[in-house]
Amino acid sequence: MKNAFFRGVFLLLVVGCKTLSTDNKEEKIVDLISNIKLEAVDPTSYANTITENELKETLYEFADDAMEGRETGELGQKKAAAYLKAHYKKIGIPSPDTINYYQNIPKEFFSGSIKKSENVVAFLEGTTYPEEIIVLSAHYDHLGVNSRGEIYNGADDNGSGTMSILQIAEAFVKAKKEGVGPKRSILFLHVTGEEKGLYGSRYYTENPLYPLKNTVCNLNVDMIGRVDAAHENAPNYIYIIGSDRLSNELHLINEAVNEKYTLFNLDYKYNKKSDPNRFYYRSDHYNFAKNNIPIIFYFNGVHNDYHEVSDVPTSINYELLTKRSKLIFFTAWEIANRKERILLNEH
Ligand SMILES: [Zn+2]
Repeated sequence: MKNAFFRGVFLLLVVGCKTLSTDNKEEKIVDLISNIKLEAVDPTSYANTITENELKETLYEFADDAMEGRETGELGQKKAAAYLKAHYKKIGIPSPDTINYYQNIPKEFFSGSIKKSENVVAFLEGTTYPEEIIVLSAHYDHLGVNSRGEIYNGADDNGSGTMSILQIAEAFVKAKKEGVGPKRSILFLHVTGEEKGLYGSRYYTENPLYPLKNTVCNLNVDMIGRVDAAHENAPNYIYIIGSDRLSNELHLINEAVNEKYTLFNLDYKYNKKSDPNRFYYRSDHYNFAKNNIPIIFYFNGVHNDYHEVSDVPTSINYELLTKRSKLIFFTAWEIANRKERILLNEH
């Protein structure tokens, strides 16, 4: 999750869609709820391949000191990229045809002294509507090393989201090997340069590997391994941001999936347009949303270790990280397998 430094710039960029009036919107949602029927094939056995043990084991590796805080363009980020690529090769998810897992971003794209960097991308082709793409994204860069030589391990930000995407990818590839692969294609997109200013996701949306018009939605995961102060006594929650801005159907699918499988308290506090934190504009999904692609941002909120060297793997709640990863998997599964592509709101 990026800090709020550029908030002023984002304010200038906001060209929001005109949304339905509240009354009208409620009516529409009631209409839609009666129409949301989940897919018949039960993905639970695949979701259950997402385990606490694997998430823990991989997050300890990914947020290890050896990754040197994964600062964009630096050696640690390159090591992290290699780790992700190796994972996809191992589980048998290929790269998009035109690249070899790395979408290279030239130095010129970045401002200041930031060096060239790369997004890491893997592609699981859909069985029925392969041209329709669901993008699952998480940034894998972090803050590097401070002037005292202390490493920002970024276990929650965003080792948690990155490892969840790897586990979700494993669940989907297992389903495909067993003959029930997703009908739509899934692009696993690990973006760089988020902490420096959402560079990797902007680069992707300006240089998409598959047409944006065929991009059904973006589910973005940034910080899902911790519990914030507001939920200390009721940790079974996740903040959902942006799900209803462009597609009420996406919003309702996520709700229906949660009701059926995961039973989280879905907290919409930060989804309010009046929320001063403006998280909707502060992670990578925003680059998709501004291209009129429906998004969901999954987020645990900030905590005392946010952007501190104390954001370490020992502080992660692995049970929650596992369950939140499953929610994202179930929602992706549903969107990938529904008969019709999800609809954009009229505006
Ligand atoms: Zn961050």
